[in-house]
This record gives sequence, structure tokens and C-alpha cells, in this order.
Amino acid sequence: MTLVQPSKIVCVGRNYAAHARELGNPLPKEPLLFFKPPSAVIGSGDAIVMPVVSRQVEYEAELAIVMGKRARKVSETSAMDFVRGLTCANDVTCRDLQKTDGQWARAKGFDTFCAVGPVIAEGLNWRMLEVIGRLNGEERQRGATSDMIFGLPRLIEYISHIMTLEAGDVILTGTPEGVGPMQPGDVVEVEIAGIGTLRNPVTAEPA
Ligand code: MG
Repeated sequence: MTLVQPSKIVCVGRNYAAHARELGNPLPKEPLLFFKPPSAVIGSGDAIVMPVVSRQVEYEAELAIVMGKRARKVSETSAMDFVRGLTCANDVTCRDLQKTDGQWARAKGFDTFCAVGPVIAEGLNWRMLEVIGRLNGEERQRGATSDMIFGLPRLIEYISHIMTLEAGDVILTGTPEGVGPMQPGDVVEVEIAGIGTLRNPVTAEPA
């Protein structure tokens, strides 16, 4: 049983300006959305399994929202009333397949590619958080949520005007700059003060 059992995982791309620039992308005028399948979810301590079809599997440290109530067409001002809490997430991505496929369902959708945890923290001020990504104990990413292009209330408003968000649904809010590749044997961490550290070993797909 994982920490979350979402009906869907809605992800936001390019929500920190510096990360959009590092991948050579323009800044979005509206939130850029994609999905990860619920079957990709793992918890803290579970292994991220690298598929053999990719040569470039990367970590993306992110703040994640866990919805607490059904939200449909909610306003920015009431959006946070529909949130249960916040957690850490790793939006694991096959960067090579993301570039060649056009659509991101494969690059972002392998089993184990949505690490979430270690806990769902309630009552945090989302504007005051720092998202830290580490590979083998070495800091690679550090982003302030105050630097998000679209803040959490705006994301919930925007998404809930497209699709009904159910209790338990998860929103990944985008990654700051510093993404990079992982190898089998690595340990990847996402830390957010007030939530804790999401830690996952990386393994090769068994032959
Ligand atoms: Mg991401």
C-alpha cells in the first residue's frame, strides 16, 4: 500500500524559470500539463527501476499536492481548502525518450517513475518551502517555491477547470533547475523541510 492511491497524477512542466531555461524551453504562458499513471507510484525506500530502453533516466525533485476533497472549477482563492497536504515527489523521466517521443506518456510513465513521500504534511505554507534534490548525498537541485511561475492555488484553479480533481489525486508542481541522470546503484533524495526526505535507490531492470 503506497502513501497515496490517486485516480490520476497531474504534473506541471517548466514551472520554474531557471529549469525551463536549462532545457532550452521558453517560459509557459499557461501551466503545461501532463500525466503520470497511478501504476508508477512508489514510496520512500522503494527502488526506481531503470528501463533498458532508455539511456538517460533523470531525477526531478518536486513539491507534490495531495488533494483532500473533490475539486471542480474552484477559484484560486478557495483552492487550498481542497488540499489535504503536501509531500515530496520525484518525477522520474527518460530524457532521451521525452525528446524523441513528442508525447511524454512513455518517458514519464514507467512503473516506479513516481516516487512520493515520506509523509503527507498538513498545514505548511507552500510559499515558504525549499525543494532540494540530492544524488548520492550530493546536492544537485535547490529551488524556492516562491520562484514558481504558477503557484499552487493557480495550478488547482487551472486544472480543476479542465478535469475534476478527486480526493487523493496528486499534483506534481514542477522541478527547479539541476536535473540530471541516475545510474544503477545510486541513491536519490528529495527533501523539503517540514515534510522530510524521500529516498529511493536506483536499480537496473532485471534481465
Ligand atoms: Mg517534472
